[in-house]
Amino acid sequence: MQMLYPFVDSIQQYSEAISDPDRYRPDHCPQCEAKQPLTGHGFYCRTLVDLGFDGVIRVRRYLCLLCRRTVSLLPEFALPWLRFSLTVMALFLAARLLRGCTLAAATAAASQTAMPYQRGQFWIRRFRTQAPALSLALAPLAAPVTAPDFVARALHMLESIGWIAAHRYLLADLRMHLLGWPAFLAPDGRVAALRSAAPSA
Ligand SMILES: [Zn+2]
Repeated sequence: MQMLYPFVDSIQQYSEAISDPDRYRPDHCPQCEAKQPLTGHGFYCRTLVDLGFDGVIRVRRYLCLLCRRTVSLLPEFALPWLRFSLTVMALFLAARLLRGCTLAAATAAASQTAMPYQRGQFWIRRFRTQAPALSLALAPLAAPVTAPDFVARALHMLESIGWIAAHRYLLADLRMHLLGWPAFLAPDGRVAALRSAAPSA
């Protein structure tokens, strides 16, 4: 299961901050609610594309000694299971869906001119599907929005709240993925096999 590493806004800051396992060590298990600090469990590597960055980052992992499940701390500008940063996607989606830019202009707005257009279309498709749920979920954080449809409403809310702040709230409080969990992690970002293996009582 993934949690967000708070308060870092650049990859450089993040890389320095994660070298200390105690800095944001979870003080309890979010999966079994064991009330004891989790044990450091090394790192895994994942790819990330951000503005001016295309490479591999380390993600710190912790282990719950009670339920034996791991928790990893993603930087909050990254989305679980998607390679591109939230910052890049936000620039693209706002350009395309809010300001009506062409696909090419939207990829340029996100500084990703080499990106295949299918990737942007994939984000748009997922965002459209997710927009009604986002509009509802973000309502407590945003001023009322008058918009012609859910896509515009969700975009206005995200722009006013801030995409990263919204992502933090959705994931931490609601276990909701900004672009929707893939089937194998639906409905709440946990691997289904683990969930069904957990005691039902
Ligand atoms: Zn646990």
